[in-house]
Amino acid sequence: MSYLLAIDQGTSSSRAVVYDDALQSLASAQQEFPQIYPQPGWVEHDPEAIWESVRHVTRQCVDELGASGFAGIGITNQRETTMIWSRESGACVHNAIVWQDRRTADLCERLRSDGAGQVVVDKTGLRLDPYFSATKIAWLLQNVPGVRDDANAGKLAFGTVDTFLLWRMTGGRVHATDATNASRTMLFNIHTQDWDDELLQLFDVPRELLPDVYDCAAEFGVCDADAIGIEAPVLGIAGDQQAALIGQAGFEQGMTKSTYGTGCFVIANTGSNALTSQNQLLTTIASRLDGEVTYGLEGSVFVAGSAVQWLRDGLKIIDSASETEAIAAQTGIVEDVHVVPAFAGLGAPYWDAHARGAILGLTRGSGRDEIVTATLQAIAYQTHDLIAAMSDDGVLPSVIRVDGGMVANEWFLQFLADILAITVERPANVESTVLGAAYLAGLKAGVIASTSDISGMWQRERLFEPGMSRERREELLAGWSAAVARVRTDT
Ligand code: ADP
Repeated sequence: MSYLLAIDQGTSSSRAVVYDDALQSLASAQQEFPQIYPQPGWVEHDPEAIWESVRHVTRQCVDELGASGFAGIGITNQRETTMIWSRESGACVHNAIVWQDRRTADLCERLRSDGAGQVVVDKTGLRLDPYFSATKIAWLLQNVPGVRDDANAGKLAFGTVDTFLLWRMTGGRVHATDATNASRTMLFNIHTQDWDDELLQLFDVPRELLPDVYDCAAEFGVCDADAIGIEAPVLGIAGDQQAALIGQAGFEQGMTKSTYGTGCFVIANTGSNALTSQNQLLTTIASRLDGEVTYGLEGSVFVAGSAVQWLRDGLKIIDSASETEAIAAQTGIVEDVHVVPAFAGLGAPYWDAHARGAILGLTRGSGRDEIVTATLQAIAYQTHDLIAAMSDDGVLPSVIRVDGGMVANEWFLQFLADILAITVERPANVESTVLGAAYLAGLKAGVIASTSDISGMWQRERLFEPGMSRERREELLAGWSAAVARVRTDT
């Protein structure tokens, strides 16, 4: 029996799952850790809290199963979140700056007005935005005393969360990342597969800070027994959304997954084609296996499941997220009321950071049920807007594989299929992200022979076929567009 340990270090919690060699889950544990909001728009994590949560969840699994028999470890992680630490002591110079953090908005604005936007798109496939690591590194170099000098002297290491965990797990012997995480730093040239000197100069980042970049399935280093309780090789790393695509066996060009957690993230596999979006979607590395790069087109909706949380915790009109399904089923599709959950601005394809949310079209007859149902509909409409942008870029999926906590809601998935006019597939295992990390480790460990074996293991649990008439769909989408137009600040 060989075990695979998968670690999913997410934005709000850390998880560990142990699988057997048939990829059946044997043990799992999860722990939340605190979010730190030092100022409006700033979001930080305590690196020690991240590390302790990862140690805690892995040790919990190891306590259950024993410390022997581990063939490999896979890591998946919240992407872009930025840390810098001392190569000597391993201590971070500052809290992690989380992907959601907007403190570098002015710097991005300045670089954009200097005309740097195009070179960033051309080389990284990303938009010049605070979301990605580069300006977060620049901020740490600029604002934390002594960091610039120590970085130039080669005393410090930068990493996204995968790199930090790998460093800690290997007792500081390994400073490395994988190509998917590297592709989210805004310093990595996704065409040459190397850190890019022009970008390093643009963001004023010394190369000495940066990790080595490996394939997603690679021998990253051996984890020390005293770090997380087992001595085993780290054999797989991928950023969370890419890991979800792998967990969904999305290895073929055209395959598309949409993950519905706090936000919604869509990635379409575009094969060896690094397709540049005309609609402000991102070009990213979907995977790199045996040196072969697969690209992806990515779009995200900032607020998906968190809109449901807002119904529960903000408006307090439901007691639990799962209630929304019965409410919507009973209410039926709502036409006049629109909830636009632009709590943090609108993402792709609008990119309107200043837009804010609204409930529109209320009449005396509108109540809780209409607002709840319209909220679920809004998440489907926003997915539609992303897919429409992808389609305009020449990528129109025929099927979408969904995962994440929200896909428990079957009313939502049927409405999604209707609004997209695309078949929606729900897998038997909706925990695609952590599963993807296990697949990567399994591939390198030889527990899984090839990606086609993963495709063979993927199982559909339920299919949602579109059934709505074209007229009805267009009418509903027109209503949604009109609602979005009313919250936008840039038109
Ligand atoms: P994350 O990994 O981002 O923390 P999860 O994948 O665990 O998120 O999904 C949790 C989200 O899904 C929550 O925001 C919750 O509101 C939403 N959710 C969970 N169950 C349902 C449901 N039955 N209907 C609608 N939303 C749901």
